[in-house]
Amino acid sequence: MAGAFFCHADFPLNEFEGLWREMAGLQRDLTLQLRVPAAAEPIHLFLFSQKATYQEYLRLYFPQVPFRRALYIKDRGPGMVFAYRSVDFETDVRHESTHALLHAALPVVPLWVDEGLAEYFETARTRRAYDSPHLSRIRWSARFAQVPDIEQLEGISNLADMGVDEYREAWAWVHFMLHGPAEAHEELVSFLAAINARTPPGTLSQRLQSKMPDLTERFLDHFRNWKT
Ligand SMILES: [Zn+2]
Repeated sequence: MAGAFFCHADFPLNEFEGLWREMAGLQRDLTLQLRVPAAAEPIHLFLFSQKATYQEYLRLYFPQVPFRRALYIKDRGPGMVFAYRSVDFETDVRHESTHALLHAALPVVPLWVDEGLAEYFETARTRRAYDSPHLSRIRWSARFAQVPDIEQLEGISNLADMGVDEYREAWAWVHFMLHGPAEAHEELVSFLAAINARTPPGTLSQRLQSKMPDLTERFLDHFRNWKT
């Protein structure tokens, strides 16, 4: 067990000691950076050594769920994360566990914010801020004054409509809110706090724009000046 997580694995976990230490840290990071409460219930990780075993297990217990390399499922009881040892195993576990921790603490999480946060926290802790695989593309776009359309992201209600571009764009707005202007971070925190208090949170685009009328410029400045 690491933090809120209970692990059920069909291989020896000591091979992943670094990851388990990080998993305990993931809860601490979410609490510190997002000021969300700690998970109010345990989260079960089901980890498989082989893709075939993983597929077979999901086919048996969740036949309606389409195949994906890793999954977060919350179906009545506590949240469950499923993953197998692919080359992206550790990233997958951090990504799905971020969803699990958020949903164990908050009543709802808007889809694009959920995915943006999971994309951010899926990167190993030491590389999150400066060395995410998404960073170079977003910095390059910022040089050409391209800003991802936050309202378009807010309009997505189906996970199937989140493609590679939408994941990267959601990540970019999260990075801006976590590492950009203090006002942007405050808006993310108060948005999540409103959700937690079950008060209508409005939209992040409106919140950010009302605090920063020059939002587009602030976004571009953030990524143009973000040093690697
Ligand atoms: Zn996700």
